[in-house]
Amino acid sequence: MIKQLGILGYPLGHTISPVFQQAALDYYSLAVRYTAWPTTQDSLPDRLKTLRSNEYLGANVTIPYKEQVVPMLDKVEGYAAKVGAVNTIVKDGEILVGHNTDVSGFVRSLKKEGFVARDKSALIMGAGGAARAAAFGLVGEGMSDITIANRTKERANDLAREINHLDIINKVCSVAWSSLFTAAKGVDLIVNATSIGMKYTVDSELTPLSRNAISPTTLVYDMVYIPAETPLICEARAAGANVLGGLPMLIYQGAVSLELWTGREAPIEVMFGAARKALEP
Ligand code: NDP
Repeated sequence: MIKQLGILGYPLGHTISPVFQQAALDYYSLAVRYTAWPTTQDSLPDRLKTLRSNEYLGANVTIPYKEQVVPMLDKVEGYAAKVGAVNTIVKDGEILVGHNTDVSGFVRSLKKEGFVARDKSALIMGAGGAARAAAFGLVGEGMSDITIANRTKERANDLAREINHLDIINKVCSVAWSSLFTAAKGVDLIVNATSIGMKYTVDSELTPLSRNAISPTTLVYDMVYIPAETPLICEARAAGANVLGGLPMLIYQGAVSLELWTGREAPIEVMFGAARKALEP
């Protein structure tokens, strides 16, 4: 029997997960098909019920369900419990177990870039699922000073408060969205965890920061991966800063998911190759 994997979210028109996950499954000649499952709010419970049947190995979860699926699962492990968001469901018999591989995908992409977070400072823009993954990942890596800015200030306040309650040595604070310029100056790392700059959205032409707010010593990390050269990445380059786009995180979080489902080492280069081809204009 061909086993099934897939990504559930809504809408799913631009997801490239099926392309690079299928390439990895085919690399090992596994009889597994990975497909996109556009899942409306009403059909989410049925989709999860279907996952319990034999032919399914698990799923990826994306916007807008990463937090919503948590109480619908039997168990939530590791960072998924801390972050309160699940992007990967793994079957253990009939049991559905939630994991969060966004955190390790984010951390691994930074390490590959040679960035050491310990005792450094960061500005995270956003307070949704991606920002939460970045914040918990950086805290886990020993970053000493994190500022969170979000359009809806209360969400940034809540995230900062939550992390500070962990009672670790990191200093996490929140600032108003209007203070971005000041907060950005001189930090070691700026993370865009908003959807600003993402193709196919109303904000595709926008950048949260312009070049005069970015220091040349900063690494600017844009989690948006379509397009590769977002308006923020262009501004950061113009400021002389180092840049990192969202594709490596996408691949690394997918790689950890694949390893959880199949127990095989993810063929990273095969996955990168398939993803880059799918993103070609
Ligand atoms: P959420 O919907 O959970 O959060 C969206 C965030 O963007 C919120 O903080 C929201 O602010 C902010 N935002 C949206 N529009 C604007 C705007 N016009 N001005 C200011 N802030 C805005 O999404 P996610 O956190 O899951 O994803 C965020 C981005 O990260 C997406 O583009 C996604 O594609 C990308 N991502 C990339 C990954 C990768 O592997 N590279 C993995 C996960 C996400 P507010 O709270 O005020 O609404």
